[in-house]
Amino acid sequence: MKINVIQGKFVDENLFLSISNLFKLLFEKSSMNFEFYSSEFYSDNSDDDDQRDLILKKIKLEENIDVSGQGQSFQYFFDEIYRYRNYTYHFNNDELVIYLTGEKNDRNFFGWINDEMNSCFINTTIWKQIYNKDVDIIYPLSYEILGWVIRSLMFNNSIELYDNAHFNETTCFMDFCENLKKHEIKTKTGEICNECIDRINKRGISKLIINDIYNSFEKIRTYILNREIYITNPTIKIQKFINDNIQFTIPEYGDLIIPFEPKQKTIYWFFLRNDTDILLSSLKKYREEIHNIHKLVNVRYGPDKVLESVDLMLGLSKDKVYDGKNEISTVKSKINGRLKEIIPNKIIDHYIIQGEKMMPNRVILNRQFFTDLVQ
Ligand SMILES: [Zn+2]
Repeated sequence: MKINVIQGKFVDENLFLSISNLFKLLFEKSSMNFEFYSSEFYSDNSDDDDQRDLILKKIKLEENIDVSGQGQSFQYFFDEIYRYRNYTYHFNNDELVIYLTGEKNDRNFFGWINDEMNSCFINTTIWKQIYNKDVDIIYPLSYEILGWVIRSLMFNNSIELYDNAHFNETTCFMDFCENLKKHEIKTKTGEICNECIDRINKRGISKLIINDIYNSFEKIRTYILNREIYITNPTIKIQKFINDNIQFTIPEYGDLIIPFEPKQKTIYWFFLRNDTDILLSSLKKYREEIHNIHKLVNVRYGPDKVLESVDLMLGLSKDKVYDGKNEISTVKSKINGRLKEIIPNKIIDHYIIQGEKMMPNRVILNRQFFTDLVQ
């Protein structure tokens, strides 16, 4: 079974790549073949907390949408998918297409599927509002992708699916989640209720496929539940992806990507390679090594301009007015901020760049938890 997952408008590329990594791990030896198609779309990271109430309100199919302009219609997304299926990629009609999108839909559903049950969209922006911030949103999103795969096999059309959604709060993946926050309960229990199991059995869906989906639900559940229970020390792995794109990933978290900017990658990589005390103001002495790292990290642009900006960051500018001192500490604190979003509190001290102002800096991580596949 081939399933095509497309990066639609306003979907962050790191998020998309992380999900594709996770699915590679989950379905390595499976009869299900997930293909991921990235595109050039950028993400819209603006947080609209003031619209929180609106964001968390779902409008059922039988209700009229009375707030216009709050999102795209379902048909809009199905039209997008139609274009991808028929003109961009030429998928067969029996292949499921899952379109991830940063655009809101006017009913505020997590996602929906067309009548033919071969095209569905999933909203990627809503999850940060629902999940506790120590749950990376790739996990609920991956759960939804799997949810749509299994739903596409269980029902003949979207009406039948809607008629069988559970509207009394349950812990089954078919719970409608009228209160969007309830999604967290579904993923944490990872249950499929008896009614749904019956249907799966009656539909004669391949046992291999069902097993793979069950097992993956279970894996995702362990990622969502507090990671500290499962893993004490995750590994930082640096590797090259397509287009020589260098990424910092954490294999124990399903190859989750740490979303560093290029300069942050360069400086963190430098500190991981150098297991020693270094003053931020002495980084200029390591100019050549830092340049070499930055050339690997920043392949998209010509080297000259880019290296000039690295020199500025290190305080090597010829311009008397600008000494770059502040920039390097900003980069450092941004690196640490990113890491803190991902790695549990209990062990974060091993991963961040430590060092008081004007004092030596260092990452104290035991380097057995650092894999450099590029070196
Ligand atoms: Zn159920």
